[in-house]
Amino acid sequence: MSGNIVIVGAGHAAGQVVASLRQKNHSGKVTLLGDEAHYPYQRPPLSKKFLAGEMPAARLYFKPPEFYDHPNVTVHQNTTATRIDLNKRLVTDDSGNDYKYEKLVMATGASVRKLSIPGATLAGVHYLRKITDVEAMQAQMRAGAKLTIVGAGYIGLEVAAVAQKLGLQVTVVEMADRVMSRVVSPAVSAFYESEHRKQGVNLMLSTGIASFSGDTSVQAVELENGDSVISDMVLIGIGVIPNIALAESAGLIVDNGIQVNERCLTSDDNVYAIGDCTNHPNELLGRRLRLESVHNALEQAKTAAANICGEQLNYAQVPWFWSDQYDLKLQIAGISSGYDNAVLRGDPARRSFSCVYTKSGRIVAVDAINAPKDFMQSKSLIGRGALLDMGLLADVEIPLKELAD
Ligand SMILES: Cc1cc2nc3c(=O)[nH]c(=O)nc-3n(C[C@H](O)[C@H](O)[C@H](O)COP(=O)(O)OP(=O)(O)OC[C@H]3O[C@@H](n4cnc5c(N)ncnc54)[C@H](O)[C@@H]3O)c2cc1C
Repeated sequence: MSGNIVIVGAGHAAGQVVASLRQKNHSGKVTLLGDEAHYPYQRPPLSKKFLAGEMPAARLYFKPPEFYDHPNVTVHQNTTATRIDLNKRLVTDDSGNDYKYEKLVMATGASVRKLSIPGATLAGVHYLRKITDVEAMQAQMRAGAKLTIVGAGYIGLEVAAVAQKLGLQVTVVEMADRVMSRVVSPAVSAFYESEHRKQGVNLMLSTGIASFSGDTSVQAVELENGDSVISDMVLIGIGVIPNIALAESAGLIVDNGIQVNERCLTSDDNVYAIGDCTNHPNELLGRRLRLESVHNALEQAKTAAANICGEQLNYAQVPWFWSDQYDLKLQIAGISSGYDNAVLRGDPARRSFSCVYTKSGRIVAVDAINAPKDFMQSKSLIGRGALLDMGLLADVEIPLKELAD
């Protein structure tokens, strides 16, 4: 394939499209439009080693800058795509420049969900999605500072772990009655709650936020129960929303993400969409979903690149994700929602165990905590919907793969 490819968004998924197109000897021009002042970079370290100051910025980049120094590749940074004309196959940016494409790839990712309560715009109230967000937080993260985190999902808890290690006084306020409630079982939540409390985090569950108070910068988080949490800074981590406005205004079908088929093709034959911004089918799971994970961004990028180059490749992947908190590596494979049984393998007190989710005896997901073997083995078992020997499942001495039909 030799046509011009324009990619809107220059994040993880976009970087992989460029790499895959090059691998497949695509000979046409590739133009990347990104609204950040960076080449595509990895976001996971933003709430882990990079935030902790343990990783230099140069190591965040998906590929070194020289990688894009190629006669067929042009990267436009600080450039927002503002309009797409599907009939003319034209993208327009915020300076009025036009980019003609043969195939367009939407890789616009997601944006943080914002809180719109009183005081939410005070200085010292942070969100975390971009390098610039980390830089703003780091300027305030000194030992002894009081950090309040709103939301006990992955990002909130990862930041809590980093901040606690750096000597901040950390409070986490969560509306639900347990942490990471959207994705893990009550037993796994209970384990993480206990770990954070042991490390000194003040964890407040079943607690709503009413407002933030302060003159120009935040000084306290006011709770719905009338209490106040004195705070020098706040991080809000309450999820993301897919960036679909541009696609929607162009006339592409959107529904909780840009709708794509199994080849990452949108409702327009010349437009693909990949990564966090998509609502996609997964034939292994037998349903459509939207995912916020690096694995999904990379695999959809490979799928789109292959199809652009004339191959017939379908996206069919077992979703997986990880989260680092303290010395605990949580690896999740599959999607646990709808499970009818959750079995623990190993003893949480030993800080190495897994929780295997089954539906009618078939494995659908696993949460593995410092248990890489269970994670690796379950990925392929989930992919083929293996029936497990439920009577022996809790016996951690028996490898998971030996319990499958
Ligand atoms: C702090 C943090 C920690 C994470 N940790 C993990 C983890 O441990 N494991 C994991 O699997 N996943 C993790 N994720 C999620 C993972 O980073 C995302 O799933 C991944 O970045 C998605 O890649 P993407 O390319 O689809 O979107 P993004 O990386 O969001 O990139 C999209 C880019 O497009 C830009 N853009 C949007 N609209 C336009 C436009 N109109 N014009 C130009 N540019 C535009 C955006 O600004 C952005 O730069 C984490 C995310 C964050 C924020």
